[in-house]
Amino acid sequence: MTRVIDRNRTFSRVAIPVIDPENVFDVAVEDGVIARVEPVSGARAAGTPELWPGYVETHAHLALPANFDDSLDDPRVTALQYLYHGVTHVVDMFGFPLVEALWEQGRAESAVPYPNLVHCGYAATSMRDNVGRTGHGVEFPAPVHMLGVEGDVEHVLAANSARGAKFLKVMFTDGTEQPGAAVRFSRLTERILAHAARTTAARGIPAVIDCNTREEVLQAYECGFRLFAHSVRDHVLSEDDWAALDGARFISTLSGLRPMIMYPRDFLADYSRAGFVETQDPANLDFVAKRTEPYGIELGCQETRTVALEVMRSNALAALEGGVLLVGTDSGNTGAFHGYSLLGELDLLLSDGAGAPGLGDALRRTATVEGRRFFEELSGRPAGGPPIAVGEPATFNLFRTNPGTALSALPETTVIDGATVDRGAIEREIRAFRTSDTTGKVTL
Ligand SMILES: [Zn+2]
Repeated sequence: MTRVIDRNRTFSRVAIPVIDPENVFDVAVEDGVIARVEPVSGARAAGTPELWPGYVETHAHLALPANFDDSLDDPRVTALQYLYHGVTHVVDMFGFPLVEALWEQGRAESAVPYPNLVHCGYAATSMRDNVGRTGHGVEFPAPVHMLGVEGDVEHVLAANSARGAKFLKVMFTDGTEQPGAAVRFSRLTERILAHAARTTAARGIPAVIDCNTREEVLQAYECGFRLFAHSVRDHVLSEDDWAALDGARFISTLSGLRPMIMYPRDFLADYSRAGFVETQDPANLDFVAKRTEPYGIELGCQETRTVALEVMRSNALAALEGGVLLVGTDSGNTGAFHGYSLLGELDLLLSDGAGAPGLGDALRRTATVEGRRFFEELSGRPAGGPPIAVGEPATFNLFRTNPGTALSALPETTVIDGATVDRGAIEREIRAFRTSDTTGKVTL
């Protein structure tokens, strides 16, 4: 579709909290790039709109089925879901090559720029062990590489690189959440793990590892890993733990775990924010309304998962305090929806801390500025300066908030590479996909 998009725009008297919490600015966009950011006289007043960099989803799976009926949304729908929610950068933590062709087709046909995306290709996991346990990752409907001997790391990096991958994702968890619980998955040996960490570090390839427990995180750290796909869920980390994990960073992913323990009323409340029916498959609402009890009760893990979620949040907030948190959702897992859940993640992290001074802004800064830095790092590019600066792509959200507005509120305006996102048009496009022969779904 060739349509001329106006990539010029000005914003007058906006606050830019990531640059300066006090003053107001005029911002001009020319040809998709920020051409001017000028402080103007007068302090900010109540109701001054705020300009923030675009949201960054730091842990998603575009090829995993988020819907409760296990259907997978067409990646062209997923791209629109992200844009609708002001998410302009997405990190795919494995599986993207399965949907890449349609994503690229959509990008070529789209009038609006697509979200920026970086992916790891397929994940690497352990082999089946001698008691029949498999490596975490094989249970998902996406290929995984298995590491049997150290030399296999080379093949995984080469195969992923050939598919456009920029970083390595290693699965390490054994699937337990508390001491004494049954081990569900085999684990990579420390020898292979350390080799993978060394090999990637030597080549400047970022390596993200999937761990759930404190013990796993400490072991993986010891082997050389510093980027963790989740915050720890079995123990609230102590001061000593944090000291031992110097330089480690953690992605929050509360949204990926929570659907497991939600009751129908929780689902209906959670999926009632603006943006759900506009972007997601409404069949999900019928599905959850019919459930009588949480999956956690059905699977006998309601209590442990409830505690796990609280512990994850506590560790995520400690990571925020230490400047090592990244905001992500594990979207693509059941009930964690692309775009929508990233905004929900902010509310889950804020939770009863809504009154804590500065916490909301700190979370939004993490989901934008820190997320962007992580995105660039995974992409193999040097971390630049602040994303809202002269010469940078005009990719940001404008919020008009008042004291009662939730952190998860949709931006009033989203601009990506200078193009203004038209939410009404996105809603119509998604509806067209859903009423087409494919119902907006793909089968892999
Ligand atoms: Zn994941």
